[in-house]
Amino acid sequence: MTHPFLDLAPLSAAHFAAIEDRVARLLDTEQDVVIMQGEALLPLEGAIRSTAGPGTLALNVITGPYGQTFGNWLRDCGAEVIDLSVPFHTAVTADQVREAFAAHPGIDFVSLVHAEAATGNTNPVAEIGEIARAHGAIFYVDAVASIGAEPVLPDAWGVDLCVIGAQKAMGGPAGVSAVSVSSRAWARMTANPGAPRHSYLSLLDWKDRWTDAGRTALPHAPAQLEMLALEACVERIESEGLSTVIQRHATAAAATRAGALALGGGLEPYVHKASEAAPVATTLRTPPGVVASELVASALSSNPGLPLAAGGGALAKEMIRVNHYGVDATAEAVRNSLAALGTALAGQGASVDLEAARSAVESTWRR
Ligand SMILES: *Cc1c(COP(=O)(O)O)cnc(C)c1O
Repeated sequence: MTHPFLDLAPLSAAHFAAIEDRVARLLDTEQDVVIMQGEALLPLEGAIRSTAGPGTLALNVITGPYGQTFGNWLRDCGAEVIDLSVPFHTAVTADQVREAFAAHPGIDFVSLVHAEAATGNTNPVAEIGEIARAHGAIFYVDAVASIGAEPVLPDAWGVDLCVIGAQKAMGGPAGVSAVSVSSRAWARMTANPGAPRHSYLSLLDWKDRWTDAGRTALPHAPAQLEMLALEACVERIESEGLSTVIQRHATAAAATRAGALALGGGLEPYVHKASEAAPVATTLRTPPGVVASELVASALSSNPGLPLAAGGGALAKEMIRVNHYGVDATAEAVRNSLAALGTALAGQGASVDLEAARSAVESTWRR
């Protein structure tokens, strides 16, 4: 008996290389793109450990939980780290980054999350890239939650290490990821005695054994299922058109924001400025006395398929996430999510206007 997931032939080196090229086109980059056979945390950690070490002075921007993780890896590598934390209801500004460089001119590495699915903000990568480039710093960006939901342009923005994963707005699997690597970043890694080698975390292994070797022989067995799924999701984005996919996510975010405001009941956009809200997911703040995780559980109990989640950790009390990405970047998913939240709020005695929310979603979608 054949099975769609089983008995797959090994993926050829040529096929693997073609998928890398396709991802490079998605990123509009001339840089080397290395596909990593693991969830996005693999290239996120690998790129930091390859690039940073004793002697690195890193500016680590924290606008959500991943920034904290990057800071921990950087310190673990022996880097000196300056954390620039901003409240989760805002994005970082280019001026804050400029001030950090003015105070610490030796900064030679900047780590930043582009869009935060976990807190709902999106950061000005292009502007920060200009500052990093002017100071000769390596610029590392986590674009896992932005790719597919908003433009991600490593070459145009001066990003040296741009990490993506397929599992958010690309609508793909979680088990595969990629990183674009500039020649400056390769040079930094080559000069870094602590960069992992002969390790699953090693980017230099891929450079030596794959990229520089002409991409003719794979260093180890390709994860065919994930690779085929990555190829299929990039193909699907190409056929819909990247700009259409991006527009769909932007509209979903705008409609969720407008719908939540029209709904009332004390629900508010968590990110204060719409311009700083991520297109990938919209976060909402619950009114005092309403526990977000309980409200989400109640909304999901009657509508189990909706893309709703409570914030992680301490945020579970006050933050709701509407994960309108991938197949859920639709008017229907947004409309139903707000209706379910509104009904759950009404069940707790709040006064909500379900019809106003519905009509705000529809009119945003039509615009
Ligand atoms: C989703 C996401 C990742 C991937 O991490 P998971 O914890 O496996 O979901 C990395 N970075 C950002 C900004 C993300 O939103």
